[in-house]
Amino acid sequence: MRNLWNNPTAFKLAGVDILAYTSRLIGANPELVVWGGGNSSIKCVEPDHKGDETNILYIKGSGSDMRTIERKHFTRLRLEDLLLLEDREAMTDEEMVEYLGHAMMGGNQPRPSIETLLHAFVPHEHVYHSHADAITSLTDTPRSEALIRKLFGGELGFVPYTRPGFMLSKWVGKIAKGDLNLKGVILDKHGLITWGKTAREAYDRTIDFCSRAERFIQTAKRKRPAPLGRVTVKSLSAAERQSRMADLLPVIRGTIGLSERMILLWDDSPEVLDFVGRPGAAKASQLGPMTPDHLMHIKPWPLFIEKPFDSPTGLAQQVMAGLFQFEKKYLPYFNRYKNGKLNQLNPYPRIILIPGLGMVTTGKNYQAAKIVQDLYHHNLRVIQNASAISRFQAINEKEIHRFEYWPMENYKLTLLPREKEFSRRIVLVTGGASGIGRAAAFAFAKEGAQVFVTDVNAKGAGETVAGIFEKYGDRAAVGCAMDVGDEKSVREAFKKCVLTFGGLDVVFSNAGVAKSAPIKDLALSDWELSLKVNATGHFLVARETVRILKKQGLGGNFVLNATKNVLAPGKDFAAYSAAKAASVQVARIMAIEHGGDGIRVNIVNPDAIFAGSKLWDQMGKERAKAHGIKFDKLQDFYAQRNLLKTKVWAEDVAEAVLFLASDRASKTTGAMLPVDGGVKEAFSR
Ligand code: ZN
Repeated sequence: MRNLWNNPTAFKLAGVDILAYTSRLIGANPELVVWGGGNSSIKCVEPDHKGDETNILYIKGSGSDMRTIERKHFTRLRLEDLLLLEDREAMTDEEMVEYLGHAMMGGNQPRPSIETLLHAFVPHEHVYHSHADAITSLTDTPRSEALIRKLFGGELGFVPYTRPGFMLSKWVGKIAKGDLNLKGVILDKHGLITWGKTAREAYDRTIDFCSRAERFIQTAKRKRPAPLGRVTVKSLSAAERQSRMADLLPVIRGTIGLSERMILLWDDSPEVLDFVGRPGAAKASQLGPMTPDHLMHIKPWPLFIEKPFDSPTGLAQQVMAGLFQFEKKYLPYFNRYKNGKLNQLNPYPRIILIPGLGMVTTGKNYQAAKIVQDLYHHNLRVIQNASAISRFQAINEKEIHRFEYWPMENYKLTLLPREKEFSRRIVLVTGGASGIGRAAAFAFAKEGAQVFVTDVNAKGAGETVAGIFEKYGDRAAVGCAMDVGDEKSVREAFKKCVLTFGGLDVVFSNAGVAKSAPIKDLALSDWELSLKVNATGHFLVARETVRILKKQGLGGNFVLNATKNVLAPGKDFAAYSAAKAASVQVARIMAIEHGGDGIRVNIVNPDAIFAGSKLWDQMGKERAKAHGIKFDKLQDFYAQRNLLKTKVWAEDVAEAVLFLASDRASKTTGAMLPVDGGVKEAFSR
């Protein structure tokens, strides 16, 4: 394992700054900790609020990520207060948390790690805790204590599995004080703690013990190269896998969605395919997590589909049956160890393993599903390492339950911001490169949706995606080229959306072209182009939407961007208005045909949308001519024409689209909502 220590950088740092620096070095290596795991501390002397020199403990705040941690993510506590607890016999988690609150120096600090007392009771200045893959590969075996003593006896203490909290803290403190020459301890089935006089010494020790463990594992693997058996399931070709999963993912999402709607992330990386293809993986995957710290994300066990069927329908039924069986297994597990009042959590797996096809992970958004995916890559490595040494063994089921329903862990969930209106929703937007489509894509992303942006202009779609990334974070949006008038292109884009996010909830069918000419001059090619995009395009998008939503079975929403002209046509607009009128009829019939499936279909009728619209650039001049005014007067002309005397913007239309697609409009389908500042000729009747 590479030691990342850099003397010139570290040299200038002291106190909480050297702690933050070293924590980031640990966080930089995913083989040590990932996604908020692990913790670290320093003991130092600093003046308190009165100016008196005081012994201080800085400890990582609960939930912060060591990869990006900064000084503000550490909590400052009065060490003497913490050390007063060493003589206590016992303390509940709640008592401990309350006590820590009083020992904190200064307000506005993060809640300190649940392992704060453990750090406090260790009589060394610098303490680092990780869930290193190499170390847990040793602890997650049946005779771990003997193995650890053989490899690290005299250097590292050993603590049999104990849930984090007061007792574990006392135990570690006792071992550390009992032998001041120890360099750290190993927590069985959990991870590694190292300490030192300096941050560097403690860090070097982490790297050293992990490197030694890695070498031991390498030797074990050479002796037993395929502990889970040789790969017996041949993976399908990449294209075949994609086509199978495009069918399967909506089915999985629909079944899991009976409890909670999730975003699904599919992973067919070589590492996953290799693991799921081995005969021993089915059993080994059911034995629990590599460290209890992962439980909150990955849950007790994945669903493993043994011997997946070849036929797509057979496989879909098999996976659905597997999910229901999983639920059946989860409920007795929950009840078996339930003590007092506990609310049962989501009874579906967060991980589904399918030989030949890969792994599906779930989360409330892309990021959450990605965390599960990342964590499981570490788990499957540890399972294989431990199996090469002897056999993988995690904490027992009772402890799994205690940890999964541990109020301290679940408390972290309550710290998360409230979910937004379109959280857990997958929204596909057509014509998302500019104008109303772009504004709607941003508005959906702002409200927490995973947005799939499509446009015939792939570059423009990419720019919208990049803009959303910048504002709302990684993977809030993904995009691709789609020509709505091309059957194959539409099918491919929808497939890509399903393969990216696992399904579909909302489609905003927006892409359009405007051709303006009096009928006597209207070229057949322009008429045909308008029909292709403004009528056939919406039909193809609607058809693909229905096909996926039906497969998923969670209902859904379709919003059509029509035009005021459908109700109040203007001259020179035959091609545009006729084609849009056709698409409105398609939408209304879709509402009639699929109301019973919970699919709502609604229509927005904008008029004269200004700024950033491709349509406006295309036809503004022509419309100005048709109205007999100058182009630069057109905006005012339109504003004067409506009842509210107002200019209508793309963002105004996006608001209406979001409303219609939201649960706030859950009783509305087949409706038409004008966003035109009020045009009495276009009142619906
Ligand atoms: Zn831990």
